[in-house]
Amino acid sequence: MLEDKNESRTSLSELGEFGLINHITKHFKISQKSTVKGVGDDAAVLDASEQQTLVTTDLLIEGVHFDLSYMPLKHLGYKSVMVNLSDVYAMNGVAEQITVSIAVSNRFPLEAIEELYAGIQLACETYNVDLIGGDTTSSNKGILISVTAIGKANKEDVVYRNGAKETDLIVVSGDLGGAYLGLQVLEREKQVFEVNPNSQPDLDNYSYLVERQLKPEARKDISILLKELEVKPTSMIDVSDGLSSEIMHICSQSKVGCKIYEDKIPLDPQVISTCEEFEIDSTMVALSGGEDYELLFTVPISDFEKIKANPHLSIIGHVVEAAAGMNLVTRANQELELKAQGWNALKEE
Ligand code: ADP
Ligand code: MG
Repeated sequence: MLEDKNESRTSLSELGEFGLINHITKHFKISQKSTVKGVGDDAAVLDASEQQTLVTTDLLIEGVHFDLSYMPLKHLGYKSVMVNLSDVYAMNGVAEQITVSIAVSNRFPLEAIEELYAGIQLACETYNVDLIGGDTTSSNKGILISVTAIGKANKEDVVYRNGAKETDLIVVSGDLGGAYLGLQVLEREKQVFEVNPNSQPDLDNYSYLVERQLKPEARKDISILLKELEVKPTSMIDVSDGLSSEIMHICSQSKVGCKIYEDKIPLDPQVISTCEEFEIDSTMVALSGGEDYELLFTVPISDFEKIKANPHLSIIGHVVEAAAGMNLVTRANQELELKAQGWNALKEE
């Protein structure tokens, strides 16, 4: 995991806005050919090529999207980049640049912003994207971070949500539900800590889940893998709100229905054991938990042989006609209509 190291506190007002921008951006290197000018002018300059440009933004607000009592700032920086790269990969593109805008209250010292940017920088280096700009301003309360990612893809490679066809296979990368359970574990530890500040959290049994919540990885590898397998998905989306709502986006935009098989949904052993401990249904967690940042896509049934034995991919169902609806086939062979409850719905139960 990433670690927060800084203990000292330097007031942001000592540096001023330009001092701060210079301080946080000076360690970033440009590595993409398409970046003509990064930070330092009125606007960044990108070299447009023959390819199509992909642009995506997410805004994260303290207290709404993250809780700093268990989310270290370095992880927050890393994750806020991942959330955006995931959207570029979900279009089957390659991410090349990001911009980062932050609003911070004077409750945060410079060292906190350094931690945030250390996570952003690690993400940039690991995923080979350039930080090319952003904006810095103050907030009355808390911290707010907005990242925009810019990517590229050949016109014929871009995959939209609306291309799924009847009989297509429905495929998901990795496994599901871990990030949601990681959050539940961290929330529980926070409550224990509030009652007894001397308690030491024991997260050994939940290491995978906590990692999924605090340090998600965007699936850059999947579009590379699919190219190697010579598979072009007919539709694709990233799993940020839970399998159920994502498959419903694909179905409604593609004007099709689906059958998802409960026993095919990929779950990590820690997800299964922790669901037992928390007495919650693991299928429910996979369907409605969020933030897994896996890729969900459809492929023609003729690609079955290319996908079936791949350890990174699970075939979880198939596309049917719209009139048949969107259904989950349970282990008991019952058909249940899928509902679009994001993880907020799950929380309120
Ligand atoms: P302007 O006044 O034209 O908006 P700024 O002073 O806000 O310019 O920004 C100066 C340069 O620093 C620009 O290249 C901008 O994109 C970059 N920048 C500002 N804030 C950030 C940030 N938080 N992260 C990365 N780059 C930033
Ligand atoms: Mg500005």
